[in-house]
Amino acid sequence: MEAIREEIPDSQIMIELSDRYSYSFDASFGEHLPDVVIQAKNKQEVVHIVTIANQFHIPIYPRGQGTCLSGGPLPVYGGIVLDLSQWPEQIGMSADDLTVTVSPSVLTARINEEAEKHGLMYAPDPSSAHVATIGGNLAENSGGPRGLKYGVTKDFVLGLELVTPEGDVIRTGGQTIKNVTGFDLTKLIIGSEGMLGIITEATLKLVPKPPAVQTIMVEFNNVQTAGRAISRTLTSGILPTKMELMDQACIHAVEHFKPSGLPMEADAIVIIELDGHPETLRIETSLIEEIMHEIGASRVSIPTTREEASRIWNARKQVSPAIARIKPTKVSEDATVPRSKIPDMMDRLQSIKEKYHLDVVVFGHAGDGNLHPNILCDQRDQEEMARVERAVEEIFQAAIDLGGTLSGEHGIGTMKAPFMKQELGDAGLEMMKRIKDAWDPNGIMNPGKIFPEKGQKLVLQNE
Ligand SMILES: Cc1cc2nc3c(=O)[nH]c(=O)nc-3n(C[C@H](O)[C@H](O)[C@H](O)COP(=O)(O)OP(=O)(O)OC[C@H]3O[C@@H](n4cnc5c(N)ncnc54)[C@H](O)[C@@H]3O)c2cc1C
Repeated sequence: MEAIREEIPDSQIMIELSDRYSYSFDASFGEHLPDVVIQAKNKQEVVHIVTIANQFHIPIYPRGQGTCLSGGPLPVYGGIVLDLSQWPEQIGMSADDLTVTVSPSVLTARINEEAEKHGLMYAPDPSSAHVATIGGNLAENSGGPRGLKYGVTKDFVLGLELVTPEGDVIRTGGQTIKNVTGFDLTKLIIGSEGMLGIITEATLKLVPKPPAVQTIMVEFNNVQTAGRAISRTLTSGILPTKMELMDQACIHAVEHFKPSGLPMEADAIVIIELDGHPETLRIETSLIEEIMHEIGASRVSIPTTREEASRIWNARKQVSPAIARIKPTKVSEDATVPRSKIPDMMDRLQSIKEKYHLDVVVFGHAGDGNLHPNILCDQRDQEEMARVERAVEEIFQAAIDLGGTLSGEHGIGTMKAPFMKQELGDAGLEMMKRIKDAWDPNGIMNPGKIFPEKGQKLVLQNE
């Protein structure tokens, strides 16, 4: 600690139990107490801390706002939690280049706020954008509803600055849209869950803010038809910005929580947003209306005012808080399938729900196959949690069987590590381990994540 204190002010070092406890969990499951929490406010401080951690082989865990849903920032082997959330906000807009350079602590929604002042948009829009850092988004490759049309975080990163696990500073990519110099380390770092180093700066791509948007809400008497409607729309030549699905349980939860005028009798709704030139939107809206009626939708509503449209989108935003009130514990998954397999995945989820007698609600970014089955349960009920664990395993298996993936956006962390081999196979997993070993020879950077330990199983119950 003496070596750390040489360059880090005491006010940024926390050793009291109460402080350390605040950093022992994230928004998922599991609690792990760090030995010390250090707040870094600039690159030099990060280099100093990482160099010492590497010299003495002390585990170090980068952390933004701790909203991770897969255990990413948890200090599973003790050591140092490196809190980056207190780094002063830096947002360097370069409107002529359509780029912005940001510090790791910037809340994602702030980037879009600044971009909009210049008629521009930062498209990735995770629901946690107001509370999560761009550093966390980059490490998790976060996505949101607009991912359907625009892509996810990785599609908007031009360059990164990274402090490697050995304390060196590297820059990847740059300010240009095109760059094919050597291996694409930018893409390797994005989504690496803080295991390859600390991101200290990012240059992000912006796009022109679309001149107009149009919302459409479609009701279905059957959730499978909703799934088919999504595939049909996407193969019709129209690419909506967002296509969000809510099943009946979600609709009811929202209406009991914050009544928003959603159709209680519908089995499912799909909320669509189009963006672009007003004339194009008019044509696309009527085409979607036709498709939906053809496929068997029970009603298509087209809001005519901004207020009506925001009422619908606000209702969608209320799903998470609304379902969280139903039972004490919410296990939120993000298994993702190819879009044509959404109806099959809905069937598999229904069978899993019945087999384990569990309360499962489904919503999500259905347009890109990223469903969020949420199991509502009570963590104090060990028998129920054992059923939940088995159900979650089957949800992962269902996604893989259907050609999908364990995680569309929440990451692997500690939670999904036991299932990595099922998706990647031995050779695929081994190749990832070799990359990790080459970058981090002493294994200090966010250890205990993504790679399964021998015999590791999914555990949703705190000991
Ligand atoms: C209510 C709610 C809604 C959510 N909605 C979405 C959603 O729509 N889409 C989505 O993708 N996710 C969503 N999430 C998950 C979460 O918000 C994202 O994963 C987010 O990117 C985490 O950011 P954070 O600042 O909280 O990072 P943390 O949780 O602190 O850390 C996340 C990971 O990033 C690493 N990390 C953090 N900063 C750095 C850095 N500077 N350098 C290197 N590694 C770093 C950590 O080690 C950890 O592995 C949601 C979470 C909640 C609670």
